[in-house]
Amino acid sequence: MPPTPAATPATAPLTPSIADGFAGAVGRTPLIRLRRASEATGCEILGKAEFMQPGGSVKDRAALGIIEDAEARGLLVPGEPGIVVEGTAGNTGIGLTLVANARGYRSIIVVPETQSREKLDFLRMIGADLRLVPARPYRDPGNYVHVSRRIAEELQAEGRRVIWANQFDNLANRAYHEVTTGPEIWAQTGGRVDAFTCSCGTGGTLAGVAAALKTRNPQVRVVLADPMGSALYSWVKTGELAFSGSSITEGIGQAARAPGNLESARALIDDAVQIEDPEMLEQVFDLLIHEGISVGGSSGINVAAAIRVARALGPGHTVVTVLCDGGARYQSKLFNPEFLRERNLPVPPWLA
Ligand code: PMP
Repeated sequence: MPPTPAATPATAPLTPSIADGFAGAVGRTPLIRLRRASEATGCEILGKAEFMQPGGSVKDRAALGIIEDAEARGLLVPGEPGIVVEGTAGNTGIGLTLVANARGYRSIIVVPETQSREKLDFLRMIGADLRLVPARPYRDPGNYVHVSRRIAEELQAEGRRVIWANQFDNLANRAYHEVTTGPEIWAQTGGRVDAFTCSCGTGGTLAGVAAALKTRNPQVRVVLADPMGSALYSWVKTGELAFSGSSITEGIGQAARAPGNLESARALIDDAVQIEDPEMLEQVFDLLIHEGISVGGSSGINVAAAIRVARALGPGHTVVTVLCDGGARYQSKLFNPEFLRERNLPVPPWLA
C-alpha cells in the first residue's frame, strides 16, 4: 500500500519555495487517491492531478519542455522576438501560448473547429493567434498538423525566428515527462506502483512516464487507454492500425498513425484497453459528484482503464493514471444535456 494520504495537507508545514514565474509553477501536481474506484476494486487507484497545472492541463509540461529545448538549441532566445507555431486539439496551444507570453514570444495556434468552444475561447483570451481549420484526416494536406507545419515553414522562409513545436514527433515532449511526471509518480507512491494506464494524444505522457517507471522497476505494467475511433488499441494489440466507432473525447486517440512519441515507447507498452463513451462518462460524472473532482473526457478514459486493469490484477495493487484536464473545458459538451441526448449518451441526474 502507498503511504497514507495526509488528511489535511493544506495545514501541513510549508518550507520556503517560491515558483519562478509560469515555468516554475509547472509540475509537482498532487497524486490523488480516487476513493470510489479504489473501494470498488480493492486496489489503490491514484490520479495525477494535471488539471491543477497553471495552464490547466497535462500539456503544460510538453509545452514547457518543447520551448526549453528550442531555447537550449538556440532556436528561440528569451526576451527576443520569436514565434511558436503548433497544431493542437487546444491544450498544447494553451500551454505553449502561456509559456510564450512569459518568455516574450508570440504563438500561432491551429485547431480543428470541432474542438470545444471553451478551449477556443480560452486560446483567444490568452492572446494566441488562433487559426481554426476544418477537421480533416491526417492524410489530407488540410489537416491541422500539416497546416501548422506550413505556416511555420513560410515564416521561417521570411527569415523570422520561428519554431514548429511538432508535439507529435518532437521527443522533447516525452523527455520532459520522463524527467518530471514519471519521477514525481515514483516519489509520491514511494515506488509502490504496479500499473500505469494512460491515453495517448502524442504519446508524450505515456512514453515518458513508462520509461521513468520501467527504469526504476521493469515489472510496472503499462497499459494504453484508447477511445473508440482510434487505431492505437489495434496497433498495440496486433501491430496494425485499424479502428471502428467514434468518441466525443478530445485530444486523445489517433486514427491514422502512431505518433513518434508513442512509437518511441512501443516496447514499454504491455497491453491496451478500449473504452466506450458511456463508460468514460460514468467515471467523469462519478468523480465530479461523489469526489468533487472535475475532469474532462480523457481523464474518464484513463480512470475507466485503471479500474479494468485493477480488476485484472486483483485486490491490493496500486494503479496510477492521469487526470489530464478539468471539466470546465468541456461544459458545452460533456456537461450539456442536449449534446449528450443527441448522441444517446447518459445525462447526469443533476443536469437532466
Ligand atoms: N488529454 C487531453 C485533454 C489532451 O489535450 C491531451 C493532449 N492532446 C492528452 C490527454 C494526451 O496527452 P499526450 O499528448 O501526452 O499523449
